[in-house]
Amino acid sequence: MTSSSARSSQCVKIGSHQIPYLIVRSSRKTSHLVVNPSGAVEARVPNDRADESVRSFVHSRARWIIRQQDYFESFRPRDPMRRYVSGETIRYLGRQYRLKNEASDSDLVKLTGPCLVVRCSKPEDRSAVRQLVLNWYQSRASEMFDRKLEGLMPKVAAFGISDPNVVIRWMSRRWGSCTPSGRITLNPLLVLAPVDCVEYVIAHELCHLNHPNHGSAFYRLLATIIPDWERRRERLERTGAHLSL
Ligand SMILES: [Zn+2]
Repeated sequence: MTSSSARSSQCVKIGSHQIPYLIVRSSRKTSHLVVNPSGAVEARVPNDRADESVRSFVHSRARWIIRQQDYFESFRPRDPMRRYVSGETIRYLGRQYRLKNEASDSDLVKLTGPCLVVRCSKPEDRSAVRQLVLNWYQSRASEMFDRKLEGLMPKVAAFGISDPNVVIRWMSRRWGSCTPSGRITLNPLLVLAPVDCVEYVIAHELCHLNHPNHGSAFYRLLATIIPDWERRRERLERTGAHLSL
C-alpha cells in the first residue's frame, strides 16, 4: 500500500481513451469523483486510500466520466472565425443571414429580410462592425432570456424554484452555468442557436437550482419541464458545431 501526497496526477486508459485525473486526498471518509465543466476529473478520496485502489475506482466509472465530459463538451461554443465583411453569413436563432455593411452617420443593426444590416460611419472597419454585431446579439439575448424565463418560471415554481439571479456573460466554452447560491449565468451567444435550444439551456440551469448535479432526479425534473429536451440538446450540439463569432 502506498499513500502519496495530498494531490497527484494520474491517468487510466480505457480502450483508445485516456482519462487523466487528479487525486485529491483529505481526511474525508468516502471517495467521490468530480468531472469539472472543463472536462478535468478529480478523485476526492480518504488520506489512506492507495493509488492502485483509486485507479480501479476511476476505471470502474470510466463510462460515466466520458458521458459527463461529452455532456460538457456539448455546451462549448466553437472558436471565433468571423471576418465581419459584407456578404458573410451571420447566424441568428438557428437561421443564416447575410451581413450587409453600409455607411451611415448613425449606428444601426437590424434584420431586413435575408440580411443583417449594419450601418456605421466606417463599414470597412471590421472591428467596429464586430462590436456592433456583438452588442446587437447581447441586447437580443437579454430580451429573449427575459421572455423565456417568464414562460418557464410558472412551470418550475411548482417545484419550489423561485426567480433566479440571472447574469449575462460572454463565455468561450459554455452556454450556461449555475452556482450553488442560485445565480444563473447565460451566454449571449445562445441567440445563434434555435429558440427551443435557448429555452432548453435556461430550463436546464433552472433545474440545477434544485439539483446541482446531473443525477436521475435532475433529469426527471428537466423532462417534466421540457419533455423533448434530448431532441433540443442534440439540435444545440449540431448548432454548436457551426458556431463561430
Ligand atoms: Zn448541467
